[in-house]
Amino acid sequence: MAGFDLARLIAAAADTIAAHADELTALDQAIGDGDHGLNMKRGFEAVRAEAAGFAAKPLPEALKAIGTKLVMTVGGASGPLFGTLFMALGKDVPAAPDRDALTSALGKAIEAVAARGKSQAGQKTMLDVLQPVHEALAQGKTARDISDIADEAADATVPMKALRGRASFLGDRSIGHMDPGARSTALLVRAIAETIEGR
Ligand code: ADP
Ligand code: MG
Repeated sequence: MAGFDLARLIAAAADTIAAHADELTALDQAIGDGDHGLNMKRGFEAVRAEAAGFAAKPLPEALKAIGTKLVMTVGGASGPLFGTLFMALGKDVPAAPDRDALTSALGKAIEAVAARGKSQAGQKTMLDVLQPVHEALAQGKTARDISDIADEAADATVPMKALRGRASFLGDRSIGHMDPGARSTALLVRAIAETIEGR
């Protein structure tokens, strides 16, 4: 791994969310309330605005602060969940994590998201991307493979029926659309994985 240049990671994450905000909005219009693109863009631009301050902190503190910022700025159901993901990562990750440490921290962070959302993989949410990404990380896959696995996992939410969040109100009518949070998670995974590997 090329290491954690947090300022570059934040820029890459915010860039991909900004570039795909309209797509995320359209996905959320189909099975939600159409705010996911704006929610994510607002949150990641708020993180970008304070990137220098975050990058000056040790990684655990930086991740906790980013999570707190996301909770305050993203809003919706996804804000507290993405916020929990980053805050929990910050609790477990060492200052200079290797792949094993990152894998272990991500596993615990996913458990924290699942507890917060009272959710699990298979319910057409961000967890349907996070879980296979965690498995791929544990299996030692490359950044490119992990990114592809994340995209495939987001695609795999299309035939699922939503059992959590706003989309679950639609019941069977949620089938046939990609989950917006799964898509935004896959976008973040690719941006982060490729930046860590120094592409
Ligand atoms: P809202 O649904 O409040 O409008 P967003 O549109 O920003 O919030 O986010 C919706 C996304 O949040 C969904 O696509 C899904 O991936 C994720 N989500 C919603 N509820 C849960 C939950 N209980 N557990 C995990 N993820 C969830
Ligand atoms: Mg929404």
